[in-house]
Amino acid sequence: MTEREEFDVLFLGGGPAGYVGALYAAKLGLRVAVVERDRLGGTCLHRGCIPTKALLQTAALYRAIREAGPRAGVTADGVRFDAAAAHRAKGEAVLRLEQGIQHLFKRARIEVFRGTGRLLGPSIFAPAGAVGVRGEGGEDVVLTPKAVVIATGSRPKTLPGLPPDGRRIVTSDEALTLEEVPRSAVIVGGGAIGVEWASLWRDLGAAVTVVEAAETLLPGEDAAIGRELARQFKKRGIRVLTGATVDVDGTESLPDGVRVRVRPVHGAGDGNVLAADVVLVAVGRAPNVEDLGLEAAGVRLENGFIATGPHYETTAPSLYAAGDVIGPPMLAHYAQAVARRVIDHLAGRGGGRLDPRLVPRAVYGFPEVAAVGLTEAAARAEGRDVAVGTFPFRGIGKAVIEGEVDGFVKIVADRSTRDVLGVHIIGPRATELIGEGALALLMEAAVDELGEAIRPHPTLSEALLEAALAVDGLAIHA
Ligand code: NAD
Repeated sequence: MTEREEFDVLFLGGGPAGYVGALYAAKLGLRVAVVERDRLGGTCLHRGCIPTKALLQTAALYRAIREAGPRAGVTADGVRFDAAAAHRAKGEAVLRLEQGIQHLFKRARIEVFRGTGRLLGPSIFAPAGAVGVRGEGGEDVVLTPKAVVIATGSRPKTLPGLPPDGRRIVTSDEALTLEEVPRSAVIVGGGAIGVEWASLWRDLGAAVTVVEAAETLLPGEDAAIGRELARQFKKRGIRVLTGATVDVDGTESLPDGVRVRVRPVHGAGDGNVLAADVVLVAVGRAPNVEDLGLEAAGVRLENGFIATGPHYETTAPSLYAAGDVIGPPMLAHYAQAVARRVIDHLAGRGGGRLDPRLVPRAVYGFPEVAAVGLTEAAARAEGRDVAVGTFPFRGIGKAVIEGEVDGFVKIVADRSTRDVLGVHIIGPRATELIGEGALALLMEAAVDELGEAIRPHPTLSEALLEAALAVDGLAIHA
C-alpha cells in the first residue's frame, strides 16, 4: 500500500467538475490529484454532451444537404446516411478531446490515480479527508490531501417495468452505442435528453413518439418554448404525447421490438399500445453517491444529493462537492463553474455560491432551444411587474437567408425596474445566441441596453435586439 500526503486538493471523479477544477487549481499553483475509475472527461465527454452533439451535427448536415441545399441552389445526388462513418466521427471527436485533457494534465503535473476512490476517514486508521483508491491491479493507495472535492457525477434513472437491456430498452448511455438508427422509437421523457434523441432519430429516418408526463415538452422551460417545440416536432412528423406516461405493467418485449402501453397521467383511460424497435428511457439522472463512504465521513445528503453550504462545502470538514452530485441544474458548464468556485475558495480568492439563475440551459436538437434566467410564469410567481417582448425569426433577414424562420426570442423583463429577468430562444443557433442573455443577466443589464447594443446586420443576433424593443412594443420588423 502506498501513502501520499502532498496534495492540496483531490478530485474524486474526472468529469467536467473534476477535470476543469483540477486544471484551474493547478494554474493557481495547487498540487492536484484526480481519482478516476473510467476515462477523463466523464459522462459529458464519453456518454453525454460531446458524442450526442457529434451525432446531432451529422443529422444537421444530412438535413441541410437534403432540404436547405436544393433551395439554395446546391444539389447532391445519392445523399445517404452512413451510420458507421457517423460513429467514427463521433469517436474521433471524443478521442481528440480526451487526449487534449490528458495533454493539459501532463503539462500541469496533475496526478491521476486510476481506480475507484472511497472516503476512509475519520477513523482510527485514517484522518478525515483520507481517500483510498483500489487500483485496477488490486493495489491500494491512500491519499490524504488537504481538501477533497467529491465530483462523482450521475447516471441515467430508470423506470420500474422498463429495465434497460441495452438493445430494445435503453437509456442515453446505450442509445449512443446502437450501431443502427431504429426504424421506430418511443422516448419516455421529453426533457433535454428525450428531445435531443427525438430530433436526432427523426432526422435519420426513424418514426418517433415522445411521451412526456408534464403538459409541455421541456417542462422546466417557458411554456411558450415547450408549445413551439411541440408544434415544430409535429411538423417534422414526431408524435408528441404530453400529459402521458408509460404503464409499468404494460411493457412487453418481443423478438423484434417492444410494446408499451401509454396512458394519461391524469384521469381514466387505458391509453394505447405503441410498438417500437427501441424504447429510450430519458426520465432524469440520479447522483452517484453510493459506496463512497459518505455516511461514515459525515457527509449529509438532501433529497438524495450531497448537501452543500456557501462554498460548496459538505457537512464534513475539508470535503467539498461539485457537479451533478450536488443536484440540479445537472449541466456540464454549471459543474465546471462550481468546481472553479471551490478552488477559488481553497486558494483564498473568494469563491462563494453561484446564482443558478445565471446558468444558461441549452438543448441541441432541431430546433435548438436555449434559455437563461426566469420563465414568464416564474417571474409572475415572484410578483414581478412583468413585461414580455417576443420576436419571431421570420422577421430576421439572416434567418430568411438560411431558410430557418421558425421560432422566436422571448425576453422577460421587469417593467418598473427595467431589469432583464429571462431570455428564451427557440430557433437557429439558439445555443450560441444565449451567451448574450447570460452576459446581460450577469451584468444586470436593463432591457433597454439589450435593445441598444448594436448587432451586425444581417445576423441572427438581431432577434435579441428586436425582442428587447418588443418589450415596449417598438420592434421594427414586427
Ligand atoms: P430531465 O429531468 O430534464 O427530463 C426528464 C423528463 O421526463 C421530464 O420532463 C419529466 O417530466 C419526464 N418524466 C419523468 N418521468 C416520466 C414518466 N414516467 N413518464 C413520462 N415522462 C416522465 O431529464 P433528462 O432529459 O433525462 O436529462 C437528465 C439531465 O441531464 C438533466 O438534468 C438535463 O439538464 C441534463 N442534460 C442536459 C442536456 C442539455 O442541456 N443539452 C442534454 C442532456 C442532458
